[in-house]
Amino acid sequence: MKLLTFRGGIHPDDKKEQTSGVPIVELKPDEFMVFPMSQHIGAPCAPCVEVGDYVKMYQKIGEAQGFVSANIFSSVSGTVTAIEPRAVASGQKVLSVVIQNDFKDEKEDVKPLPADASIADIALAAGAVGMGGATFPTHVKLSPPKDKPVDTVIINGSECEPYLTSDHRVLLERGEEVAGGLDLVLKKLGVKRGFIAIENNKADAAENMRKICEKYPDIEVVNLKTKYPQGSEKQLINAVTGREVPSGGLPADVGVIVLNVDSATVLYNAAKYGTPLTSRIVTVAGSAIKEPKNFRARLGMSAQSLIDAAGGFVCKPGKVIFGGPMMGMAVSDTDLPIIKGTGSILCLSEEEATLPESMACIRCGRCVSACPIHLLPLNFCNYAEVRDWDSCKKYNILDCIECGSCSYVCPSKRHIVQSIRLAKQALREQKK
Ligand code: SF4
Ligand code: SF4
Repeated sequence: MKLLTFRGGIHPDDKKEQTSGVPIVELKPDEFMVFPMSQHIGAPCAPCVEVGDYVKMYQKIGEAQGFVSANIFSSVSGTVTAIEPRAVASGQKVLSVVIQNDFKDEKEDVKPLPADASIADIALAAGAVGMGGATFPTHVKLSPPKDKPVDTVIINGSECEPYLTSDHRVLLERGEEVAGGLDLVLKKLGVKRGFIAIENNKADAAENMRKICEKYPDIEVVNLKTKYPQGSEKQLINAVTGREVPSGGLPADVGVIVLNVDSATVLYNAAKYGTPLTSRIVTVAGSAIKEPKNFRARLGMSAQSLIDAAGGFVCKPGKVIFGGPMMGMAVSDTDLPIIKGTGSILCLSEEEATLPESMACIRCGRCVSACPIHLLPLNFCNYAEVRDWDSCKKYNILDCIECGSCSYVCPSKRHIVQSIRLAKQALREQKK
């Protein structure tokens, strides 16, 4: 079978066996649910409820502000007890609506939009965002400019980060919704070419999707070589279509839209039932977790509740990460809300989490071969050490996707990604 791929990349131990064979478990929500008004790239929402209001499940509690923003809906029924800044995984405090759950799940009377509604309107009404972690509002993606016609839509089923298996389980357990979501997008946009791209370490998911897609002549399930960062949009587009997204460009520049697996199910359910995005699948795994699992968690729940549901810790965690081990965010507190972009909570043992000591560069070039964007990572490390931000910019550091492949392969254990993040931050401040 033909395996599609891109140039560069790495092959870390995927450690997916912890949870890939375990069915998704539905979780009971918490008593107090926290909804940060910024769960997406773009302008934060404005709360549209007040303290003391009774809210229903599926009721809008955060109104999108401007085009690049996404509505937020309550995942429970209950009473608003606070609207105040609360900590989120990024380390910032974000204005949040806190709801005391009455555990009645009284639902707002939701209805699908009329049959002639555009796919962008359906996405906007559902508060859909990219659920692979990028959290870019889906209605923006689904509104390509007229001068950039789209001819291909790809569902990103690569899930290339170690430990993560939430998309894998969705493809196995809710494949009809994934295929139905893609079919809907194709029909609404008038596009004739849809792909569901799956890495070959998820052969059961690919087989399941192939069977389901027999009834969709415009959808093809394609196999990707298992390689990190295959799930990065530019690498995925290159592997599936052979097209190169230009430096600083977007998928629409090459006529492609990429959607996450779970985002496709959100569109399907929004179009069919009118239900908005109020829950998601979260992998809870890592060497410090007793019973690693995938959960369907309501948005607003505390990460600690998911850790408890996974049996708690077997040892003191050295690091807790929201997201994957390569690109996720380390957090110092586990009482943080699950939001639209939270695909996993990883709890690593002290041994696994400790960064090795960095040594001098031996100019072996391995970081250059591994870089999927064809950059020169060793230079960024050297320039950042002497705070030469202009040279970093000259060598296109802003194209770096912070995938961490360079750090992973470096025999001298240089902290390359950390240097890159530092340089990018300095350049952002310079620009301001
Ligand atoms: S992989 Fe590490 S040691 Fe080798 S060239 Fe890159 S930074 Fe230097
Ligand atoms: S330079 Fe950036 S894009 Fe290239 S391997 Fe390193 S982190 Fe990934």
